[in-house]
Amino acid sequence: MNPPTYDIAAVTTRAACLALDAADPAAPLRDRFDLPEGVIYLDGNSLGARPRAALDRTRDVVAQEWGQGLIRSWNTAGWFALPGRLGDRLAPLIGATAGEVVVTDTTSLNLFKALAAALAIQADRDPARKVLVTERSNFPTDIYMADGLARWLDRGYRIHLVDSPEELEAAVDADCAVLMLTHVNYRTGRMHDMAALTRHAHACGALVLWDLAHSAGAVPVDLNGADADFAVGCTYKYLNGGPGAPAFIWVPRRHQAAFRHPLTGWWSHAAPFAMAHGFEAADGIGRALCGTQPVVSLALVECGLEIFEATSMAALRAKSLALTDLFIALAESRCAAHPLGLVTPREHAARGSQVSFTHPHGYAVMQALIARGVIGDYREPEIMRFGFTPLYTSFADVWDAVEILRDILDRADYDTRAERSAVT
Ligand SMILES: *Cc1c(COP(=O)(O)O)cnc(C)c1O
Repeated sequence: MNPPTYDIAAVTTRAACLALDAADPAAPLRDRFDLPEGVIYLDGNSLGARPRAALDRTRDVVAQEWGQGLIRSWNTAGWFALPGRLGDRLAPLIGATAGEVVVTDTTSLNLFKALAAALAIQADRDPARKVLVTERSNFPTDIYMADGLARWLDRGYRIHLVDSPEELEAAVDADCAVLMLTHVNYRTGRMHDMAALTRHAHACGALVLWDLAHSAGAVPVDLNGADADFAVGCTYKYLNGGPGAPAFIWVPRRHQAAFRHPLTGWWSHAAPFAMAHGFEAADGIGRALCGTQPVVSLALVECGLEIFEATSMAALRAKSLALTDLFIALAESRCAAHPLGLVTPREHAARGSQVSFTHPHGYAVMQALIARGVIGDYREPEIMRFGFTPLYTSFADVWDAVEILRDILDRADYDTRAERSAVT
């Protein structure tokens, strides 16, 4: 089926937005979410909205599976198999196959495991490779974890932080062990060409680890098509798994036998309930696990994944690009008198599912927006970030968000002395 088309070129009124919504085949998916009245939620890139089904699922897990099933539920309710079952369900969204993904732990921890495994594979192949290449603009935890692992190993690994995407190819050379990149940048919304960078890294003998935190459920991803080596990502952002929901890790079949990491907990053992004295890694993707999972939180991930099965990433991508194109066009035309600077690429191939604008008082303006029900967020320096989630964002939402932004800017109705909260 061809993805739907959205003609936003002539949209200059709210009525035109309502007409787009009326004709939008993805519009009914919004009913699968419970969003508060009077809120335009543009922060699904940070914490996805709640699927309606999550409330009943919580009741079921807590009252039935835990309350009635008690410990039997590890078997009878499938708790033990949950990381792999959810991984299989998530797999199609990222171009993976069943048996290649588990939902477990946090993105930070999964990154640590994948990076440790990648470095171990390279140490066997070509121990002289000591450089790990990533971007200075990467999400800090990715760099912190890589730095922590490199220091801990104490084998001369060096992290090369690249300052602009254009310098990446030159930075990956015969000394590079691993290229570790976040596919869509959390601040700018810029998206890398996964296939091209993976091809280049492989030609140089490097392995590639992709962080899909802002990609899974946001843009079409084809890990196997790109011949990528490892990937990790979040479920609480575009996948709507719930606050702090466990993350995922992908290891393609060709690397599973060689996949070794230092967090060899009992869940990654070949026979956890043998309670054996020695560690023996499970076959397959199970070796990427570590220990007991937060089952209540893990179970809710399914409610988010189910919704994606009613649509396709190609259809969601078509709507996402129309929403972000429209937001950019309206913000630039209707707020033209104000110093908004577009940070996100206009080029579709280089854009994720968010739009970031700088404003000299970005933090204060975002607080004013939130006070008026338009929820985005703020990232240093000066960046107002607006996430667009085609499952539940409407074209009328885009119109209304820009009008409220315009009104705040026209009247300078924001408080530049506002105290910063712990989470911005
Ligand atoms: C959101 C995000 C994370 C979050 O990691 P946690 O371990 O879940 O805190 C990591 N990396 C990137 C690139 C992210 O965008």
